[in-house]
Amino acid sequence: MIPVIDKDVCDGCKDCVEACPPEVISMVDGKAVIDESLCEECGECVDECPSGAITLPRK
Ligand code: SF4
Ligand code: SF4
Repeated sequence: MIPVIDKDVCDGCKDCVEACPPEVISMVDGKAVIDESLCEECGECVDECPSGAITLPRK
């Protein structure tokens, strides 16, 4: 599944940008945004976010 980033929780640390293997996370207005069309759904960013802003969506 493609992770979801809660913009209200993201503090703009960019850890997820560095952690994403295919480099599909970018910063927009200081908040992380996933290019969903290119996300490989590896889950790396979910584990890497120190703020807990990235989660996997519930079914
Ligand atoms: S799930 Fe993997 S590919 Fe998708 S945004 Fe997160 S780190 Fe990048
Ligand atoms: S790792 Fe988390 S807090 Fe840091 S930029 Fe990414 S989503 Fe935001």
